[in-house]
This record gives sequence, structure tokens and C-alpha cells, in this order.
Amino acid sequence: MRLLAPSDHVVVVGAGLAGWRSCEELRRHGFAGRLTLVGDESHPPYDRPPLSKQVMSGKWSLEHTTLATPERVDHAQVGLELSVAAVHLDVDATTVMLGDGRVVEGTHVVVATGARARRLPWHSDALFEVRTRDDAGRLAARLDQLGAGEVVAIIGAGFIGAEVATAVAARGLVPVVLEAEARPLLHVLGDTVSRWLEDLPAAAGIDLRTRQHVVGVEADPATGADAQVLFADGTRLAARAVVVGVGAQPNVEWLADSGLVIDNGVVVDVHQLCAQRVAAVGDVASFPWPGAGHVRIEHWQVATDHAGALARYWTLGEETPRLIPYFWSDQYGRKIQMLGHPRPDDDVTRVREAGPQQWLGLYSRDGVVTGVVGLSQPRALMLSKPLLEGATSLQDALRASPWT
Ligand SMILES: Cc1cc2nc3c(=O)[nH]c(=O)nc-3n(C[C@H](O)[C@H](O)[C@H](O)COP(=O)(O)OP(=O)(O)OC[C@H]3O[C@@H](n4cnc5c(N)ncnc54)[C@H](O)[C@@H]3O)c2cc1C
Repeated sequence: MRLLAPSDHVVVVGAGLAGWRSCEELRRHGFAGRLTLVGDESHPPYDRPPLSKQVMSGKWSLEHTTLATPERVDHAQVGLELSVAAVHLDVDATTVMLGDGRVVEGTHVVVATGARARRLPWHSDALFEVRTRDDAGRLAARLDQLGAGEVVAIIGAGFIGAEVATAVAARGLVPVVLEAEARPLLHVLGDTVSRWLEDLPAAAGIDLRTRQHVVGVEADPATGADAQVLFADGTRLAARAVVVGVGAQPNVEWLADSGLVIDNGVVVDVHQLCAQRVAAVGDVASFPWPGAGHVRIEHWQVATDHAGALARYWTLGEETPRLIPYFWSDQYGRKIQMLGHPRPDDDVTRVREAGPQQWLGLYSRDGVVTGVVGLSQPRALMLSKPLLEGATSLQDALRASPWT
């Protein structure tokens, strides 16, 4: 592998967190060549986690989420090409064709096109999602128009749905969260942990309804501006706004004829490479994971870690030890955090009870620790991180109890 030289030109496609961090990390590790960052949104790179938290509760303005301020762009010497999508990648020539017909000729390409919100097939002016800065601006403007006690329906009690519900309640509005499964996060965190979390909405005074089979959303015939959620049993729920949080899907369509292997994202190797001089990072990348083939993980920290690992490999030839995935979610007044990438059917052992709604649990499979999950236990969780740096048996973990 040839290290990057000052004569090289790295073209980064996707001006989100992973794309921006790739630029910053390449510079931090000494890359002195040309850097171009292409993004289809009109905004310079911004941070998404505050969109469903501080922005939605009205605490932050949208501007507050900007990562790539003019000073940082200038400092990193990045050529920003915004409001234009990449439509084709020539892997051998390392050229990227843009939607306006221009062709950007690079020596290396980073695919960082992330994911987009999964859509439901209904149309209404009162239907919202929260993936982009524009989505969040549209929903926040709608919430600003509503008065105390008015109902906002939220379809999906996953991370985004729960965070939006929390923010909606903080505004004095009434969120009604509609979840198809028996419990929120059942298929993400597994049966046991989803049970440990199931009382949170009620404790926060939030109306969460499980086993809800939503079959449509229609404009309210009386007002036109409001919506009605339709259920399989024929009942309806009137709401001033309906927010959909039912997951995301990777933005890979523009790579369909590139020859890259696409399988629930862009399939990469341990160096994030998908071709000799093409890499993929962040939400779009499907990367090797022991015992699971490849995984695609939509976490802020994973996007950041991918960018750092790629930059170290391309500039210094250094291999990064396997990353330890991490996420957090602020919901119902509590903070859920997880380290590792356990499967939902892994075993779970509660190892620390620090008070009501403050606990730490270990996931394990075949007696080996696969993850650490905590509710409002940030310090104990981080102290447990070394358990995931190698294969640690559950017995050894319990003996060492690093969380105490
Ligand atoms: C509302 C919200 C809250 C979140 N909260 C948390 C949290 O609390 N904790 C956590 O761990 N994670 C959280 N996440 C997840 C985290 O934000 C993502 O993992 C992270 O944004 C991934 O960054 P990315 O750059 O890979 O992808 P993205 O952020 O999706 O960026 C990809 C960019 O590429 C652009 N793009 C797509 N196709 C093209 C194309 N063909 N040409 C040019 N540009 C293109 C997209 O429009 C986008 O701007 C949250 C996400 C959202 C949406």
C-alpha cells in the first residue's frame, strides 16, 4: 500500500459526520494534498444527535449543530461542493461524477454517504421525519406553532422516536408514542434489557402505546393541516403533527454500477477499504465483525472511529485495533449507553444497581462478555470498557468488577 502523498487528491463523498471527520483526520495526520468534500445537502457538515434532543426541545438553534464552521473549513483546507449529489463512481479511475455533469478526478475516494430515514408510504403536510437539519427545522417550526396540551403522534419507539417524544413533552405538548412491538427496542437491545427499560416512558409521564398497528396517516378532513393516524382495528388518533421514526437505510443507490460489493451498505475490509484506493466510512459502511460477518452500525462514535482509522492507515500505514462501538441516547429523562455490539439474543446479567433507574448490565455469549449497557451510569460504563478490549469471560468480569 502506497501512503498518501502531497500530490494526491482525496475526494470525500457525503458531507456528514464521517465525511467531515475524514477530512479533519487526514489533515491531523499530515495529509498535505488536495481534499474535496461533496455533499447533496445545502448545509456544511453538522451534527445530527442534537436534532432530536436540544434542537427539538427548543434549547438550541439549528446553527448550533454546525461542525464545519467557515474557520474550520479554512483551517482544514477543504474544497466544499455542496447542494450537489454524486451520481456515479468510477472505482478504477477514482473519479466521481456529480449530478450537474461535472467529474471530480481524485486519486482516492471516501464514500461517506450515510443513511436516510426510512419512509412510510403516506403523504400529509403534518407528517415529519428527523434525519436532516432541514427535517428538524421543519418539525421544530411546526411544534413552535402548537399550544400546550396539543397531541403529537410519534410512530416508532426506537431511539429517535423516544428522543423526539421527550423533547415534545419538554415543550408542554402531549406526545403519544405508537410502537408496533410488545416493548420498545426489543429487537435492538433484546428481551431482558427492553424489559428493564419498559417503565421509563410512564415514569416520565409519556403515553407509550405498544402493539399498535398503524395502517395509514391522512390529512384531517376538518382542518386539512392536522393529521389522523389510522389503525388496523379501524380506530383513529387525531394529532397536530405525526413524526415517523422507523429506522434508516444506507445511501448506496449511486454506487449500483460501480462494481463495489453492496450488501446492506458498502462492504469494506478491516482498513475500511472497498477497492484499492476507495474506502467507505460511517453509517454507509458494512465492516467485518467477529462472528457476525459484516455489520453496519449507525452510531456517531463509529463514524468518528472509522474516519480516524482510515486516516491513520492512508497517511501512516498504521492499523487501528478493532473499534469498540459506543452509542448513547437521551430519552425520558435518562441516558442509555452501550459499548460493544451484542446480539439481541445474548445473555444479560445486571451487575450494578445504583438506584431507581440507574443500573449497569453485561451482555455475554458463550460465557464471553459482548457488551455493556447502562442506564444513567456513564462512569461505571466507561470503567467497564477494558472488558471489551479482548475476550473477557463473564466470570472474570464479575470478579474484576471494574464498574465499582
Ligand atoms: C436525529 C438523530 C439523532 C441521533 N442521535 C444519536 C445519538 O444520540 N447517539 C449516537 O450514537 N448516534 C446518534 N445518531 C446517529 C449519528 O448521527 C450517525 O451515526 C452519524 O450521523 C453518521 O454519520 P455519517 O456521516 O456516516 O452519515 P450521515 O450523517 O447520514 O451523512 C451522510 C451525508 O451524505 C449525504 N449524501 C448521501 N448521498 C449522497 C450522494 N450521492 N452525494 C452526495 N452526498 C450524499 C447525505 O445527505 C448526508 O448529508 C443520530 C442520528 C440522527 C438522525
